[in-house]
Amino acid sequence: MEPNGILIYGELTTENTVKPVVKQLLTKARELKEKIWNQRIVVCVIGPRMNYDSIIYELGRYGADDVVIVCDNRITEYNHNYHPDIFTKVAQKYPPRIILVGATVQGKEIASYTATKLNTGLTADCTGLNIGDKYLLLSTRPTFGGQLTADILCGTFPQMATVQENIFKEEPVEHTANAIFDWIDIDKIEKRIHVIKTIKKEFSGKDISSAKVVVAGGFGACKNNGFALIYQFAQKMQAAVGGSREAFEKGFILKSQQIGQTGKTIAPSLYVAVGISGANQHIVGIKNSGKIIAINSDKDAPIFKYADIGIVGDLFDVLPELIDKYDTVNIEENNE
Ligand SMILES: Cc1cc2nc3c(=O)[nH]c(=O)nc-3n(C[C@H](O)[C@H](O)[C@H](O)COP(=O)(O)OP(=O)(O)OC[C@H]3O[C@@H](n4cnc5c(N)ncnc54)[C@H](O)[C@@H]3O)c2cc1C
Repeated sequence: MEPNGILIYGELTTENTVKPVVKQLLTKARELKEKIWNQRIVVCVIGPRMNYDSIIYELGRYGADDVVIVCDNRITEYNHNYHPDIFTKVAQKYPPRIILVGATVQGKEIASYTATKLNTGLTADCTGLNIGDKYLLLSTRPTFGGQLTADILCGTFPQMATVQENIFKEEPVEHTANAIFDWIDIDKIEKRIHVIKTIKKEFSGKDISSAKVVVAGGFGACKNNGFALIYQFAQKMQAAVGGSREAFEKGFILKSQQIGQTGKTIAPSLYVAVGISGANQHIVGIKNSGKIIAINSDKDAPIFKYADIGIVGDLFDVLPELIDKYDTVNIEENNE
């Protein structure tokens, strides 16, 4: 079969709903498909046996032409053996020109496995996609430690890219998808990874990827219990807590809370950076934020170039005052 169309990994949440990054990829794929003779957009969904109507409806609403569903009752959650192999088999059965995968923990594993199995290239952690010369996928990603961006033309087929979350907007359209229930013999999948024990990380806070307000701490907050103030302030703001790579490396946040090139890209209505200098690798993760407030004791800190409001001051003076003065409001309802 001739390679045709754009195949997207339809990652589901733990509640079996469509992850926002899939809708973001679909929105972008609609634009790309017009430049490659309106080829079909196919989404592959892997999960347990259940009713997929709402998932098919949702994927159609964002532009999927076909939804290929592979379901089995042994697939109740993400499986390192099954998901990468099933996705690869779907890519072999419906060979696409382009494969797009969200650069999530799952997506990174799946995309690298599939690229290796299909003997093709993979541009990882992209921040932009287009169609370039000879109708090839043009993927943009940060390079040289975030100082530059590189446009990469993928010369092998299928052309593969993983894309960071919250880079593209989610825009629905009037469209319905066609559902294809497929079957793959998962007994034949080689089980090379054996999970001995699963230890869930204790983190009850909000997810920075979907939060309307994010308060983040940097190296400046990694001393004298600065992060305790950040959590207190975030609670008042009903915000998710994130941080810079420094904050992650010093053990004040989890990897899932790190913002930036090697962390998450976020798109809150309001982002508050506390004791963060504003290195390029951090900025790439916040540039889709609505308003940015920076609190930093150094008036020349680069973060102020990106801030809508800059507070030059010591966070140990500024935060207690804000915590004291700030009346808790429902930001989710008042985010205009
Ligand atoms: C390949 C690569 C990938 C990277 N990926 C990421 C990434 O994903 N995310 C990321 O964040 N970084 C990333 N980095 C690291 C990045 O280059 C910076 O080193 C990092 O962002 C700096 O973190 P910071 O701003 O917390 O610390 P610093 O740069 O040390 O800044 C601390 C700031 O706190 C201020 N400060 C200190 N004390 C106070 C106080 N009491 N009150 C107020 N302000 C105070 C200082 O003035 C300073 O501006 C990456 C680097 C490389 C090379």
